[in-house]
Amino acid sequence: MAEPKRIPDGMQVFSMVSGQARIEDEADFVIIGSGAGGATAARVLTDAGHSVILVEEGPYVPVKERGYDVWTGFRSSWRDCGFQVAEGRLFLPIIQGMGVGGTTTMNGAICHRMKPELHAEWVRDHKLPENLSFEEFSRIYDRVDQELQIAPAPEEVLGRHNTLLRDGLQAIGFSHNPIRRNVVGCQGSSRCIQGCPTAAKQSMDQTYLPFALRKGARLYAECRVSKIVRVNGRAGLVEAQFVSSPDRLKGPKATFRARRAVLLAASAIQTPLLLAASGIGKESGLVGQRFQCHPGISLLGEFEEPVRMWESVTQGYESTHLWTDRLKFETVSIPLDNAAARFDGYGKKLMENVERLGHLACWGVHVRSEAHGRIYRDFMGRTRIKYDMTDGDVVRLKRGLKLMAKMLFAAGAKTVMPGVHGLPKRMDHPDQMEALDQLDNSPNRYHGIASHMFGTAVMGADRKRSVVGFDGQVHEMPGLYVLDSSTFPTNLGVNPQNSIIAWSWLCSEKLA
Ligand SMILES: Cc1cc2nc3c(=O)[nH]c(=O)nc-3n(C[C@H](O)[C@H](O)[C@H](O)COP(=O)(O)OP(=O)(O)OC[C@H]3O[C@@H](n4cnc5c(N)ncnc54)[C@H](O)[C@@H]3O)c2cc1C
Ligand code: SF4
Repeated sequence: MAEPKRIPDGMQVFSMVSGQARIEDEADFVIIGSGAGGATAARVLTDAGHSVILVEEGPYVPVKERGYDVWTGFRSSWRDCGFQVAEGRLFLPIIQGMGVGGTTTMNGAICHRMKPELHAEWVRDHKLPENLSFEEFSRIYDRVDQELQIAPAPEEVLGRHNTLLRDGLQAIGFSHNPIRRNVVGCQGSSRCIQGCPTAAKQSMDQTYLPFALRKGARLYAECRVSKIVRVNGRAGLVEAQFVSSPDRLKGPKATFRARRAVLLAASAIQTPLLLAASGIGKESGLVGQRFQCHPGISLLGEFEEPVRMWESVTQGYESTHLWTDRLKFETVSIPLDNAAARFDGYGKKLMENVERLGHLACWGVHVRSEAHGRIYRDFMGRTRIKYDMTDGDVVRLKRGLKLMAKMLFAAGAKTVMPGVHGLPKRMDHPDQMEALDQLDNSPNRYHGIASHMFGTAVMGADRKRSVVGFDGQVHEMPGLYVLDSSTFPTNLGVNPQNSIIAWSWLCSEKLA
């Protein structure tokens, strides 16, 4: 057996070992990935009395090892130290967690339900059946609300950073609300992205994973799956190898046998890579295709009054007023190491900017973009993501940025730093942002990121036009199920973790 580490409630995670030739284990279900999709499946299946093995590439990072600085988080539990990019005219960072709890350990705790309008679109255009009705999704959303204690961020922890966005939205007449979040006793320390230092965030490592482990699940961390293999025509074996974190030293190989099914929840980037490595995708040609995301851009605004981003909930306020126009606005508090990358100047000038950090607000807009990209491994075995925003996406982005500048000035900002190539570094009037319209629609003028991914193993009834069925089962490999947002026919326009949880729950319930 591998060396055990402790996670909450004294549960054990089996991690990297040296000196052992091979590790083998067997259970009813083998789950690949321990994030929103994988942990939820483990929660549902162990609750129904099934034996479960979870295999996770990243390490378990205990709460006490989380730091304030971004680098500690990057090193321990961000995939490729945060340097994974989508290649197009713009190099767009694609940010993902890689650790026990997946990306939920470093996300903003925002909990959104899918919009009913979007669900109706999926029913109309993608023929979603009755077992995936909006009522079914809502039944799970309600349950998860209770279990993960989801509620709007209370006034006491919003801090000025979030209430300023409220002021700005109010001033331009947009609807707005405090963000619904999965937290208990959040102190507004603004460190969600580095990993909550007080375990207030109800991420999977604090909730569904300890639940499943208490019920007997076994979790192998720092163990990378390379392939899913058929046994008697069905998915039956998972091949993996221990790889230490952060130095990536290779350890023993491992084989996990699934008596009933293999559940793949490695995220919309890694899931299609594993499918392709397991020989899947020939019938539809769609594995790794149709990659969609929500490119997001932030603006910095400087206020006379203190803002002190670090004394607020990381992401506490939002507006979905323009959801139908494919835009969503939200606060995103960033630590000094991130903010400094946006400051102009160096030496004394940089230090002057750093001194003003307490007066900065950082607000983001993300676009429900139309562009489709693709994911594949190149001949060197490296992950490649090809993605380019369309003209329409950039036009929407410009609109979002102009509106956000308006909000910042309306809330009292003296200066806005747009960070757009072709615009002045600092602006002191919202009209200056109109110059955006004079710029061409090249995405590489912007410094976006994307952290919500979809569509790379799409669901559907027709095996020539989809990768998995409406129960999550892979058409080309019975006994293999995809339980993450790879299966979503489109992007959501809102933050996805709750809908990934709901999808995984619905499929797992059926399997149980
Ligand atoms: C900075 C940031 C903030 C975010 N904020 C929010 C938010 O506030 N609200 C929201 O709804 N969403 C947010 N998201 C997105 C959200 O967290 C993710 O969409 C969600 O966690 C995805 O769930 P998943 O199960 O598909 O993948 P993940 O949660 O990423 O889990 C997948 C796991 O699979 C593992 N894995 C991958 N390949 C292998 C392999 N070969 N072998 C073994 N294991 C493997 C990975 O290491 C990872 O741990 C945010 C994302 C980021 C990056
Ligand atoms: S704001 Fe701070 S205390 Fe609240 S969930 Fe995020 S990291 Fe934890």
